[in-house]
Amino acid sequence: MATIESYSDEFDSLVGSHPQLHRLGSGFEFLEGPCWYTLADGLVFSDIPADCIYFWSEKDGISEWRKPSNHANGNTLDNEGRLLTCEHGKRRVIRTEFDGSFSVVCDSYQGRKLNSPNDIICQRDGTIWFTDPPYGIEPDEMEQPHSYVFRVGKDGNPEAVADDFVKPNGLSFSPDETLFFVSDTDNERHHIRRFDVLPNKQLVGGEVFKTISPGKSDGFRIDPKGRLFTSAGDGIWIMSSDAQVLGKVLVPETPSNCAFGGPNYDTLFITARTSLYAIELKFLEV
Ligand code: MG
Repeated sequence: MATIESYSDEFDSLVGSHPQLHRLGSGFEFLEGPCWYTLADGLVFSDIPADCIYFWSEKDGISEWRKPSNHANGNTLDNEGRLLTCEHGKRRVIRTEFDGSFSVVCDSYQGRKLNSPNDIICQRDGTIWFTDPPYGIEPDEMEQPHSYVFRVGKDGNPEAVADDFVKPNGLSFSPDETLFFVSDTDNERHHIRRFDVLPNKQLVGGEVFKTISPGKSDGFRIDPKGRLFTSAGDGIWIMSSDAQVLGKVLVPETPSNCAFGGPNYDTLFITARTSLYAIELKFLEV
């Protein structure tokens, strides 16, 4: 049985009466970047210090997928189903093409190297957004004046859309893409902020949506009903669109991130330090 803390009937319905937290694999160094890779019918996830992206499928379990991975961190799919990956080692964002080759999406801004791209999301029209904190570099290697949130549109040029984060990290859109959420994992902040997205894709607002304690929101996802699933110090918190904590799935190791996947997109995969976990959700009913 999964260990849960429920604060609502909605959460009870979402996890069902006998929630099971499955450990799909263990023995890793530090996992991040879970992403359901639809075309391969499995999950990719990054072990950042081990310099490897792994692949999990129901049929074959876990195998190495890309090594070296240039210390890859966040992964997501673009609007065509191609994998987008943030690389700490080469300080860039890349796209894996359908033939297995890769293209560089972004590796500099205003003539200077990026810090170390961390997490990434893509809108339905193909616009890519990613965070660029300095976790993967030494302080004297930082060339950018800020830890920006970037947007890369169809022209391929990055634009800094927020410059007042200390450690911008996880990011996600509301289902209608009118709201944009970004976490700050600075030790003093440890919160998620919410922005309104204007039709020209500029951001306004940016108030604190939720402060996370214990721990931080390293990564999060938003479901089709607008509920936010975030990592925190004690597990995965599930919040309503108005920031009420509906319940928590407690995880034996501190989670870094989570992602929806599986044939019906109703499995929540959780990367947590040395292990990969999964829990089934009742999305179709709730
Ligand atoms: Mg992250």
